[in-house]
Amino acid sequence: MRISEMFYSIQGEGLLAGVPSVFVRLSGCPLRCRWCDTKYSWDSSDGEDVVLDEIQALVQARNCDYVVITGGEPLIQAELGDLVKLLKETNKHVTIETAGISFVPDLSCDLMSISPKLSNSIPDDNKLAEVHNRLRLNVEALRKLVSNYAYQLKFVVDSPEDIAEIQETIEEIGGLDRAKIMLMPQSTGREEYIEKSAMVAELSKQTGFVFCPRLQILLWDNERGT
Ligand code: SF4
Repeated sequence: MRISEMFYSIQGEGLLAGVPSVFVRLSGCPLRCRWCDTKYSWDSSDGEDVVLDEIQALVQARNCDYVVITGGEPLIQAELGDLVKLLKETNKHVTIETAGISFVPDLSCDLMSISPKLSNSIPDDNKLAEVHNRLRLNVEALRKLVSNYAYQLKFVVDSPEDIAEIQETIEEIGGLDRAKIMLMPQSTGREEYIEKSAMVAELSKQTGFVFCPRLQILLWDNERGT
C-alpha cells in the first residue's frame, strides 16, 4: 500500500478532537482542492510502498488505541478494507477521513469522518476544476456512507455565504443527525484559522451545527507530520 506518511499526534478535528492518535496517510487524491493543506499526498506515487503487516506493526509500536486513516483519499484504495481489518484485530479504534466521493461497503471502521467538498474548494486551474466538479459531490455515495457507518460530517467554511450550500447539501443527502454536522474554518495556517474561527462560531450559533476545531493548525501551524 502506498503510504505518504505515518506519524503520532493528536486528532485535531471532529468529535474525537484531542485524542492521541496514530495517523496513516495514504497517497493519492483526484480532487485537488484549492486550499488543500496536504498537496504532497495528491500523487499516488508519493511516499513509499509499505506492506499491510508492516503498517500494523508500526501502529502497534505506538502505545495508542486510536488510528486515523487519512489521505489523500482513502476510499479509492483497493487495500483499505484489509488494512482496517488488520488494525481492528489489534483492537484499535479506526477513523477513516474521507471526502465521501465513493461508497465502499463492509469496512470495519469505527468512525467515517466525511468532509464533503463545496464549491469553495474548486481549483483555479480549469482542467483540475473540471475533474474536481465531476467528482466532488456524490450524493448517492454520501447517503450510503451515512446509512452504513457511524459518521460525522465536517464542512469546510470559507465565508458566511457557504452556509446556504451546506444547507442544500444536507437536505439533498437527507436523514442526517444534526448533532453530527460540523463546521470548520477553511485555513492553511494559524493566522487565518484564528481570523475565520469567530465567523464560523457565529454560523454555528445561528444554525446549531457543531463548531469543529482544527487543533493541528492552532498548535503547530499545520506543519507536516504534526
Ligand atoms: S479531498 Fe482532501 S486530500 Fe484531496 S485535495 Fe481535497 S483536501 Fe486535499
